[in-house]
Amino acid sequence: MSLLDHLIERIAQDGPMTVAEYMSTCLLHPKFGYYAIRDPLGQKGDFTTAPEISQMFGELIGLTLAKCWLDQGQPKDCLLLELGPGRGTMMADILRATQAVPGFHAALQVTLFEASPVLRAAQTKTLKGYDPDWIETLEALPDRPVFMVANEFFDALPIRQFVKDGDGWRERLIGSNGTTLSFGLGETAPQPALQARLDDTEDGDLVELCTPALPAIETLSNRIALHGGAGLIIDYGDWHSLGDTFQALRAHTRADPLERPGQADLTAHVDFEPLATTIRAHGCCHTRLTPQGVFLERLGITARAQALASNLAGEALDGLIAAHRRLTHPDEMGNLFKVLGLYPQHAAPPPGLEP
Ligand code: SAH
Repeated sequence: MSLLDHLIERIAQDGPMTVAEYMSTCLLHPKFGYYAIRDPLGQKGDFTTAPEISQMFGELIGLTLAKCWLDQGQPKDCLLLELGPGRGTMMADILRATQAVPGFHAALQVTLFEASPVLRAAQTKTLKGYDPDWIETLEALPDRPVFMVANEFFDALPIRQFVKDGDGWRERLIGSNGTTLSFGLGETAPQPALQARLDDTEDGDLVELCTPALPAIETLSNRIALHGGAGLIIDYGDWHSLGDTFQALRAHTRADPLERPGQADLTAHVDFEPLATTIRAHGCCHTRLTPQGVFLERLGITARAQALASNLAGEALDGLIAAHRRLTHPDEMGNLFKVLGLYPQHAAPPPGLEP
């Protein structure tokens, strides 16, 4: 049986499914799920992320978090937490870059939140010597200061999609004719979670709702507000969701999200506004949403690239120049990716970001 057969069978039994059910089944089904059974990252995989492009990314994130820790008086018994750590590359770069910060490593427990057994195994290998802990749920986070980073984690969380129809919404659903899958629309119904969007949308507009992101943000905001720490959420997306951003990537190319389920990465742009509203509602502060390129330039990525370049020549130098451009240039990842910082009241915002 393939994942397509499984989905068709489920739809035959229970009727059309939401985009969120489809997305979470395709990504995390224990036997067929995209993340459950493979390492999708890198040139040979389906997509490449910032930490896999260059060590400079994780190094600058590490120094940012270490500066927050110093600014907050070097608290003891903290967590250095990463959500969706992939191969563990960024965490390794963070830890290497912060080795020279006196007391930082001794104050930290490296803590990872990861659903994929394949990637957990990769993280174990990459982070050998740092004794990481994995948590099964975010609610299980102990009551301690938490210095957190999430790169391309929230875009992998399942979204639901709704099309405006008068005072209500029609949910986009996935049905089947017994052989293939297709999109359709459910009945018009009120959606309390989208009440605020009735005013800024017109009939036929599509908005997206990432329900699982909010409890995650709630837990993190509570911890940071009560015990201190900081957070960096880095992802592609914008302040306000409008339009269909549900997409599939296979071998670095856009694909039809309903074709070959389980064999492509499925993502949606992150709608940062509801995250920010949730952060504030839980007594935590957030920074302005800042383009990744601006953030990295403020942290000194160009100086770091120049320092690395002084030891390189030929192809390695060309690779470094290309990586710097890819991470920062507005036509590449510089503008599409955004950074939102979390910090407690009465603390300074993370470096590179403004209140
Ligand atoms: N941060 C890494 C990997 C990004 S890919 C990088 O930048 O390279 C998305 C990551 O989130 C993967 O590690 C994936 O397995 C993990 N992930 C996706 N959905 C998850 C979920 N619901 N719970 C925990 N981890 C999840």
